[in-house]
Amino acid sequence: MAPRKPKPKPKRAGDGETPGDVRPKLAVWKFASCDGCQLTLLDCEDALLEIAAKVEIANFPEASRAIVRGPYDVSLVEGSITTSHDAERIHTIRRASKVLVAIGACATSGGIQALRNFAEVGGWMTAVYGRPDAIPTLRASTPISDHVKVDFELHGCPISKEQLIRVLGAILRGNVPRLPHHSVCLDCKRNGTVCVTVAEGQPCLGPVTRCGCGALCPSHGRGCYGCFGPLAEANFGGMGRLLEVKGVDAAGRARLFRGIYGAAEAFRVESESHGRNRT
Ligand code: SF4
Ligand code: SF4
Ligand code: SF4
Repeated sequence: MAPRKPKPKPKRAGDGETPGDVRPKLAVWKFASCDGCQLTLLDCEDALLEIAAKVEIANFPEASRAIVRGPYDVSLVEGSITTSHDAERIHTIRRASKVLVAIGACATSGGIQALRNFAEVGGWMTAVYGRPDAIPTLRASTPISDHVKVDFELHGCPISKEQLIRVLGAILRGNVPRLPHHSVCLDCKRNGTVCVTVAEGQPCLGPVTRCGCGALCPSHGRGCYGCFGPLAEANFGGMGRLLEVKGVDAAGRARLFRGIYGAAEAFRVESESHGRNRT
């Protein structure tokens, strides 16, 4: 008599798989960017293993060549829209995604490459490329939300891994992600960091920049340059006047606001109010 085959063990929820063996599909997409925000996901280490056990990683070119067809439960989108091809592809991704999260300065404001928005990009292309007509570059670098509906934006250049884990965890539990909403200054106070503006007169955008980094730069003795983007409802005009009082000239003030998040509305408007409209 042939030996009996052992019965397969039933799968249990909580073993890293949901009942019915169906795990939510997570996809990570890249547009114009440096890959730094995707690397933040890889940098989540142990937490990433926990996340990977709860989801099916369906598309993540930075980590795997395996591609699973959509639709996707959660899409993380890194990078800004800079070509006509990008502008078409983001619509395909949106249609295939139940929840779409834009991650990082590039995806949420256009990123450092949005400095092109303040200049004549055609002139640069002619200077750099032999065949500028072969480059399908758009005139401006734009955030994902300029093209499709975005369900949540996670800021930073790069994003914070603690915030990323928190947001992914909330989405996978079916909750609305919530993040702290305060300025970098408050984290300075909590850390007991001596203010570099008060103590040394250094320019610092901390009062108008959203939290996320734990006030990293001031803790190393330098001012914040706004890489987590403008804090909603902050007093940007007051920030500009403070910089002026501290002796930062108009070009310096404009340059400070026109950095990584320079295309975000509040920083762009304040930058232009200091009279420097071109990079
Ligand atoms: S936001 Fe910064 S770290 Fe993230 S992809 Fe863009 S340039 Fe890289
Ligand atoms: S160092 Fe910058 S972020 Fe920190 S308290 Fe002073 S102004 Fe605010
Ligand atoms: S530039 Fe500002 S927001 Fe960015 S890490 Fe430094 S302190 Fe944090």
